[in-house]
Amino acid sequence: MSTELSDWIRLDKSLSIEAESGYTNLQGNQYRFGEFLCLFFGKTPPLGTPASDRSRWQSFAVKYAQYPQLSLSQRRSLISNTRQFLHELKLSLETASEPPPSKLPRTVPIPRKQADPRKITLEQSLSTLAEVGYKKGELLKRLGLFTVKDILFYYPRDYIDYARQMRISHLNPGETVTIVGSVRKCNCFTSPKNKKLSIFELIVQDNSGQIKLNRFFTGTRFTNRSWQEKQKLLYPLGSIIAASGLVKKSKYGVTLDNPEIEVLDSFVTNIASPKVGRILPIYPLKEGIDADLIRKVIVSCLGAIEQIRDPLPVALRNQYGLIKLKEAITNIHFPQTTDLLTHARRRLVFDEFFYLQVGFLQRRQEQKQIKNSAIFVPEGKLIEDFNKLLPFTLTNAQKRVINEVLEDLNSSTPMNRLVQGDVGAGKTIVAVFSILAAIQSGYQAALMAPTEVLAKQHYRKLVSWFNLLYLPVELLTGSTRIAKKREIYSQLKTGELPLLVGTHALIQDKVIFQRLGLVVIDEQHRFGVHQRAKLLAKGRSPHVLTMTATPIPRTLSLTLHGDLDVSQINELPPGRQPIQTTVLISKERTKAYNLIRREVAQGRQAYIIFPMIEESENLDIRAAVEEHKKISETIFPKLNIGLLHGRMSSVEKDEVLTNFRDDKNQIIISTTVIEVGVDVPNATVMLIENAERFGLSQLHQLRGRVGRGSHKSYCLLISNSKTPDARQRLSVLEQSQDGFFISEMDLRFRGPGSVLGTRQSGLPDFALASLVEDQEILGLARTAAEKIVIADNHLGGMPSLKKELEQRYQKLMGVNILT
Ligand code: ADP
Ligand code: MG
Repeated sequence: MSTELSDWIRLDKSLSIEAESGYTNLQGNQYRFGEFLCLFFGKTPPLGTPASDRSRWQSFAVKYAQYPQLSLSQRRSLISNTRQFLHELKLSLETASEPPPSKLPRTVPIPRKQADPRKITLEQSLSTLAEVGYKKGELLKRLGLFTVKDILFYYPRDYIDYARQMRISHLNPGETVTIVGSVRKCNCFTSPKNKKLSIFELIVQDNSGQIKLNRFFTGTRFTNRSWQEKQKLLYPLGSIIAASGLVKKSKYGVTLDNPEIEVLDSFVTNIASPKVGRILPIYPLKEGIDADLIRKVIVSCLGAIEQIRDPLPVALRNQYGLIKLKEAITNIHFPQTTDLLTHARRRLVFDEFFYLQVGFLQRRQEQKQIKNSAIFVPEGKLIEDFNKLLPFTLTNAQKRVINEVLEDLNSSTPMNRLVQGDVGAGKTIVAVFSILAAIQSGYQAALMAPTEVLAKQHYRKLVSWFNLLYLPVELLTGSTRIAKKREIYSQLKTGELPLLVGTHALIQDKVIFQRLGLVVIDEQHRFGVHQRAKLLAKGRSPHVLTMTATPIPRTLSLTLHGDLDVSQINELPPGRQPIQTTVLISKERTKAYNLIRREVAQGRQAYIIFPMIEESENLDIRAAVEEHKKISETIFPKLNIGLLHGRMSSVEKDEVLTNFRDDKNQIIISTTVIEVGVDVPNATVMLIENAERFGLSQLHQLRGRVGRGSHKSYCLLISNSKTPDARQRLSVLEQSQDGFFISEMDLRFRGPGSVLGTRQSGLPDFALASLVEDQEILGLARTAAEKIVIADNHLGGMPSLKKELEQRYQKLMGVNILT
């Protein structure tokens, strides 16, 4: 076996390490230095080695066999001879195989000879590469990188763009720039104002001036002394770094906050490959792996790029203006220009969305093949009677959605529909129509809600309507008494009970329906996969109606449940007054209290919401428990004030809510447990403390607790956050009552997690795609997927696409809630 370039790099390294450490015959991973060199020269010299050099090559094997016996000066001269020999040999090999150097532009360094690209395969394990080896291979595995293909599909997290390189004295606030300079000072310390905040500062200088770079880390893990010391070691004084980020102006002059920082050590200077442009990739890393390693490995793996087969049909690629997969992979790592980078990203983002959508649509098509659901007739006595009973006229949106639902139900294919509608849009009515359709066709229905409060509220409303229709309905939750539970179980089994409302209690094994034909799930994103599946399993392909009051932007909704049919109730019942919303700072709290006083004097009620229930040690959070005490003792001593928080039992919660509903308490102080629950039309003030801590969608939901009656209502958002971002964010609520607009803004400001709430969002883990930036590509991917699935649902004509889909979809769906 002949040696390869990659071996040489390792050899170069070990020669210099041995020299630096004083010719001590160092112990390596497996061998001592002498043994290692002996083995190296024991192999066949590289292809093309001239005959004269072949014999010298072999003589080194003999010399290194004696290395342990050599004196210090003999060792020194042997190593120096070896280096000289290798250097000349390399040169002669390169000139033999490269075009004459004169043809290359002077500024482009002569590339080192690459290992034969045909020898690297996509499936090859990374640890077999010379740059990697066993030890580093193990580290790479911790990043989930096992094969050449894995690392080629391991995309950079960011780039340092030398085309944007600016001299420090020329920086203007608001620009995204790259600077290159030497480290003058490096410091990492705990903020004197906030014990949980660690501040990292780097002063960097180029020949035009100096600039401070800041990075901020929150959490006790980062204020740890030894962690801080380690940070300093990353950027030794005098080292040359590149930093990329947004220029900001502060009291202390111009800064870069949270920039990408790279130490420009060996990579830029050593791996002078023509493949590396002026845009340097930055990879997501874990401890023990340096950025250079990833880049070097990728450079050598690019040799396998020709083996990548593009699963997308050419016609599709052309239609959507997508570049080839292998071009995209090359350019996502080492883009020659920002334009190429944009194209690469576009192609790869398209792929991420596309396979997910194909998967969703395939599943939907498959579901549509099922033909064993019960068919519910839309015309019938119950629906007619209910229409007569309705105390109001349905909005057009409600009518449309009800028709869509009833049409779905009138088929043996199971319905799988999501009804989205803003708070108060009247989704419950849609559920009632579907339930009545089931009952009048002789089937049972179940309605599941995520909290006891919400389940009870549905129950109460349904009871009032069902009584008029002479239909029984029961409530099952964790706190239902045993005797009652038994009664419910038996009535379900005999089919006497047509509708059961409840919480997770519904999925218990004891709950057995005689003929469950319809499942309604409220706030479906709050349930996990298994809970959903378990409830569905209680019927034979029951129809499923899910509802959500969290308006989800289309991008999120496609990504989260692209296999559902979606209906929007995009219209509020008439006569709803906009809720007057004001953002206040804490000094203005008295204003808020005066408003509450005035409203209560007129017989109204108010909510005061806090983000957490106990004063957390450092953060400036006004906790509900302590505030309740303070407010009831000093601010409103004459009023009755209830307290509601998540650590109370449901019996206690219920009592508090009942008192509020019955107006025994004029004010309720609560954490966000109130969010989805309470419907008290007499409440007209919603005061929210530390409003900046909530997502906009969540604030909108909270706000939706008032304005439910005929009185004018108010929402007061108290926030002391001075950041312009927080202010701007909150002002969205002052300006808009439109849940879709608000969630769209929330998505932009804080990302998907904020829109969906704190619970595990169930969103797939995209490597590149952003649901905020890439809405257009998602739209294209969806359209493309629809065409493909309609034309060939099983992808029989596209085996490579099918194979890719299987791999990608599995990976993504591993974290999706709807499986
Ligand atoms: P959400 O969509 O938030 O679940 P609900 O279904 O609870 O909303 O409806 C909110 C309130 O509006 C309820 O009191 C309901 O009876 C009432 N409502 C629903 N539809 C209409 C309508 N078309 N006209 C007037 N009031 C309605
Ligand atoms: Mg509702």
